Amino acid sequence: MNRVYLALGSNLADPLHQVRNALDALNAIPQTQRVAVSSFYRTPPYGPPDQPDYLNAAVALDTQLTPEALLDHTQRIELEQGRVRKAERWGPRTLDLDIMLFGEQVLNTARLTVPHYDMLNRAFMLVPLLELAPQARLPDGRYLADIARQLDCSAILPW
Ligand code: ATP
Ligand code: MG
Ligand code: MG
Repeated sequence: MNRVYLALGSNLADPLHQVRNALDALNAIPQTQRVAVSSFYRTPPYGPPDQPDYLNAAVALDTQLTPEALLDHTQRIELEQGRVRKAERWGPRTLDLDIMLFGEQVLNTARLTVPHYDMLNRAFMLVPLLELAPQARLPDGRYLADIARQLDCSAILPW
């Protein structure tokens, strides 16, 4: 069993509706229990600024799945909710489900980089995660709270 932290993001097609649907879908993943859901946050877009604000949240799961099997499910849920992959990086999307932490595992495969490669630079990922797990650490032992203190979190507002 591994404790997993996912980052949820949406800025299209009624983000609140998208995230609520995603939470239901996450509940239905086999061999997986949803443990906790953070508050919903309103955050400025990362990347191209000409797009709506994002709803961001974090979810804690306990799973017996492998990381790849969990990614299969999260990518299926993204597609079921109308995610269209565009050429533009970090463009608007109905739903993004990223694996931030998967137990204490470190993965660098074609499909998965865990811990998420850019989470240490993203207040919109760390603030919701720290709400769920103030003591969370990276596999190398560093506390995420110490890293978040170096970031500007002032634009991370309640939804
Ligand atoms: P970013 O990864 O910078 O947040 P994004 O979430 O918009 O950008 P996606 O289009 O959702 O990027 O995913 C691109 C690819 O990232 C996926 O096909 C997936 O295989 C890969 N990927 C690598 N590591 C992870 C991870 N930790 N969680 C989710 N996807 C990952
Ligand atoms: Mg992402
Ligand atoms: Mg993604």
